[in-house]
Amino acid sequence: MPADIGEPLFAAYYSYSLNKVTNMMNKSGQLRIVQCAPAIRVSLAEEFGMPFGTLTPGKMAAALRRLGFDRVYDTNFGADVTIMEEGTELIRRVTEGGPLPMFTSCCPAWVRFAEIEYPDLLDHLSSCKSPMQMVGALVKTYGAQLDAVEPANIYSVAIMPCTCKQFECDRPEMESDGYRDVDAVLTTRELAYWIKQRGIDFMSLPDEEFDSPLGQYSGAGTIFGVTGGVMEAAIRTGYELLTNEKLPKLQLDFVRGEEGIRVAEVQVGELQLKVAVVAGLQHAYQLLDRVQAGECDYHFIEVMGCPAGCISGGGQPKLMLEKHKMEAYRARKSSIYGHDAASQVRKSHENPFIIKLYDEFLGEPLGHVSHHLLHTTFHKRGPGRQSLSRDASTEGNNDY
Ligand code: SF4
Repeated sequence: MPADIGEPLFAAYYSYSLNKVTNMMNKSGQLRIVQCAPAIRVSLAEEFGMPFGTLTPGKMAAALRRLGFDRVYDTNFGADVTIMEEGTELIRRVTEGGPLPMFTSCCPAWVRFAEIEYPDLLDHLSSCKSPMQMVGALVKTYGAQLDAVEPANIYSVAIMPCTCKQFECDRPEMESDGYRDVDAVLTTRELAYWIKQRGIDFMSLPDEEFDSPLGQYSGAGTIFGVTGGVMEAAIRTGYELLTNEKLPKLQLDFVRGEEGIRVAEVQVGELQLKVAVVAGLQHAYQLLDRVQAGECDYHFIEVMGCPAGCISGGGQPKLMLEKHKMEAYRARKSSIYGHDAASQVRKSHENPFIIKLYDEFLGEPLGHVSHHLLHTTFHKRGPGRQSLSRDASTEGNNDY
């Protein structure tokens, strides 16, 4: 069952945000660059009447070129970079000592939640920017060098499944050398509206490729779109980097699932790695209270704000009927995993364009250049949970 595609009430808002983007894109002398989050390619076609979860990366790339973008890059590439940086950070914290458990930091809703409710735990968050911001920073440095263009002449747009990503993009620290990492964010629904507004017949478009190098991704980058995906991608790389052995099985079923909290122990060489995956912020309280009390011995915890991860983000096609949500989330998730399984490269550290990026530009994960461009800081924004009262009956609901 496709999503409701009319949404007349939203049209005025969509036009407002699109006008801002198209006005900037029409300025002469600009290199117009776009990136798309992993979850867009499994939901965009729903806006054009296709079944839930229809996978259309090639048509999406083609549509973005017809909308006027000069380079179609991919947030999935940034997800691969995130794994290189975050995986190295985790290994360093485990082997050399550092605040554990380490939390992921790619979901701006989760980051803001931590800044307000658990500011004393902010040094537990990975210092990595999100994949969107990493791609943004690389577009105006590495990408600018490759295109021989000044960063000031690049206009960088991100298509996201998320209504929090504009907030993240606007954070003052999300810039490098005076240039904003990402200039504007549009949601999946806004992109669909734009394609329709321009009269592009989406489903008749040919499949086109993303541009190189910042549009080439592994299956591990793809699965960032579902809850548990960051953890699975990190284990695929972390296991091999720590042990120098091949991971026996790439599909890690123990982090896949629909429960609000999933936990597992993984033998990585001599280390018994304890991990947890949290989907939906209402479930985060349970683990964070234990971390705060010093009672949580996990090494790595993934937290995503939305119940099924980014495939269920607030910027995705609207599902007017509650009964369609589970159907859509499961179809999108299955499509993401299928896209990963069909990928020639399924581990971030084996993506040849990632290897090239580090050889030619970044040097090494957590090195000087990476630290300058790809890492960030977090800030206390609230008094912390201890000063708030909470209804315990809202906790522990493990359903989507
Ligand atoms: Fe945004 Fe939801 Fe994804 Fe977090 S999980 S980045 S809030 S879409």
